[in-house]
Parts: sequence; structure tokens; C-alpha cells
Amino acid sequence: MVLRGFSSRSFVVFRSAGYGRPSVPVATDGEKGPFRNSNKGGKPLIQIKQLVKKYSSRQGNVIAIDNVSLNILQGSIFGIIGLSGAGKSTLVRCLNLLEKPTSGQIVVAGQDLTKLSSKELRQARQNIGMIFQHFYLLQSRTVAENIAFPLEIARVPKKEISIRVEELLHLVGLEDKASAYPSQLSGGQKQRVGIARALATKPQVLLCDEATSALDPQTTLSILNLLRDINQKLGLTIVMITHEMKVVKEICTDVAVIHEARIVENGPVESVFIKPQSDIARQFISTIFPNELPTDLLKELSTHRDSEIVRIQFLGSRASDPIITDLLRTCDVRANILYGSIDHLRSTLFGTLTLELQGNPTQLKEAHRYLASRELKVEVIQRAL
Ligand code: ADP
Repeated sequence: MVLRGFSSRSFVVFRSAGYGRPSVPVATDGEKGPFRNSNKGGKPLIQIKQLVKKYSSRQGNVIAIDNVSLNILQGSIFGIIGLSGAGKSTLVRCLNLLEKPTSGQIVVAGQDLTKLSSKELRQARQNIGMIFQHFYLLQSRTVAENIAFPLEIARVPKKEISIRVEELLHLVGLEDKASAYPSQLSGGQKQRVGIARALATKPQVLLCDEATSALDPQTTLSILNLLRDINQKLGLTIVMITHEMKVVKEICTDVAVIHEARIVENGPVESVFIKPQSDIARQFISTIFPNELPTDLLKELSTHRDSEIVRIQFLGSRASDPIITDLLRTCDVRANILYGSIDHLRSTLFGTLTLELQGNPTQLKEAHRYLASRELKVEVIQRAL
């Protein structure tokens, strides 16, 4: 556990003394993290309203963000997923006005950033940390000096800086690397420095721009776990842009799918995984839950009489139910297992099972009635009656 440096007392003090902004209510050590259930009906901390970003270049005009509106709830881990060129980086850079929107509004903690003066914007940015794929650490500064950098810019007194840097080194598990230089660190350690630096000014929001894309799978997991710990412990709202569904699956509470500059769907991660609305979301989900059957098998199965191929999806406690045994005991059908997988969405189990069900139309109807009564999502992929 990387948050060992924070007693519940010191933690409350740490969050209630933000640099230059009002304090916000946050979870204390004894409380549960702000996951989906506690967010229900929660307040949006970030509101993106009719955002448009156009670039003009010699090659012509590009609409990188096309009328995007999104609400991001306080305490959520909000994933924005899309293919390369979809507009992810532009969108996340508009959230702290690193990119100036062509039109629309970005409201963070009640403040419309597009309406602020440069001085007010500098102040508002202290509430929005950011980490990057390539870390962007200052090579001539030690780890501690890198973390101290934003505090020096914010003119925080030296004594306070050194206390704060120590807290942050504990937070990211790098106490023993304070005097090391970036060149002496692994990729995962560099990103931990990036996270500590981004949190130095006690922001409410952390933006992550493909933060794990340069890391190997094991280091990616350790960074995602750190981000989840920080989200739970500090109530930090995290916005992650990524092209990898496994990042979303691991820690996000909500996800928006961006495609060709537009949000094509958006919702709690479980809903999007169980019932994707767009082809692009289905494609992303299939990268981690590949459930396409080989076409020659489908062709062969299509010659069977009185049979259909169904895909059953289940979430949470349903994953441990003996579905097939119960189905076969209750209904007069035969089942041929073609594909199955089980994994987790954050801490919730998510499974998929593809079966060939054999029986006459009445028996198959009865099987569907039974599966529906168990609140399972059932999709008929192919029917050969
Ligand atoms: P993603 O992060 O999803 O890969 P980007 O936000 O980087 O996508 O880019 C979205 C679109 O905007 C792309 O077509 C890209 O070529 C274009 N774009 C991004 N930045 C610029 C820029 N500074 N000038 C011109 N076009 C840009």
C-alpha cells in the first residue's frame, strides 16, 4: 500500500489547506472510496459544454473536437477512449486550456475556464494536475526538486515545500529516491514522480494523457493501482485518456467513447460493457473480451437443425451461478459450450458465455424465458431452425 505516509489526521489537514482555493469535503481514511454507488446523483466537478476545437493548417482545417458535451462527477475515474486521431489529446488539453477551445465552455469546480484572465487561469490550473505518457521531468533536477517545482512557482514557503515533498514521496512510494535524477529511474518510477508533481498543489482533478502507454503491462498495473488508491484516499477526480480498453476495465468508473471528434457513447463502465451502443465501443470491448467465433465454425453450426447460438453476459454475483446446470435442469434443451471467459471490471466480475442451444422452437423459447428470469443479458447470434 503506497499511501502508508498518511495517517487519517494528517490526511484531513492535507486536503483542507489547498493553495489558494476553498477547501472541499473529502473522504477520510476510514471511509469507503468514491466509486460508482457513492457517485449516484453526485455533482459534476467538470462540465464540458458544446466544446468545439478547430485547427487551421496549410493542409486545411481540422475539426478535432466537434460539439462535445460531458459531465464528469466529483470522485469518479473517467476514461475517454478512442482510436489514434479521434481527438482525445485535444479534448484533455482543452480541460486545462492548454488548448484554447474554438467555442464552448469548460467549467471546473464551478468556474468557466474560458472566461478567466491569464492570472485567474494560472490560479485555476493549480486545481488541475496533469501527467503525460512521456513524463516530461526536468532532467537536471532530482526527484524531490521535480516534485517541488510547481510549489516554487506557486511561491510556497521553502519549509512548507519540504514537508509537502516528503508527504508526496510517501504517497507515491519513492521515499528512497528523493535524491535520484530522472535518468536513474525506471519508467514506472518516472511516472510516480509525474504523479507526485501533479498532486503537489493539492488539485481536485488529475488529467492523465495516455499515462501508462509507455509502460510494460506489470508497471501499467502498478501505476493504475496507485491512481485508484489516490482516487479512493483523497477523493481526487481522475480523467484518463487512453486507446486501451484494459486501462478502462482496470480502474474507470465511467467511460466516454470518442470517435472522429465526437462522443459516440458515454456512461458507467458496467453499462457500456454490457450494452455497447456503437460499433467502435464493441470493437474496443472485443480487444479484451474477444468473443467472435471462427466463421467456419459458425458456417458448420448453421447447418444444424433446431439450434441457435446465444451469447450470455453476466455481471457481479451472477458470475458464480451454475447457469448451464440450472438451465439444463429447468428446460428441456441441450447446450454445447462454444466460448467462455470471465474477468473483472474494476472489482466486479464480468463474464461471457457463448452456447449452442438445441431444441425445438417451444423448448428454445422456454430456455430464453428462463435466462431472462435470471436477469442475464442474452443475445442470439445465429439461428438455424
Ligand atoms: P488523439 O489524441 O485521439 O490521437 P488528437 O487530439 O491528437 O487525437 O488529434 C485529433 C485531430 O486533430 C487529428 O486529426 C490531428 O491530426 C489533429 N490535430 C491535433 N493537433 C493539431 C495541431 N496542433 N494542428 C493541426 N491539427 C492538429
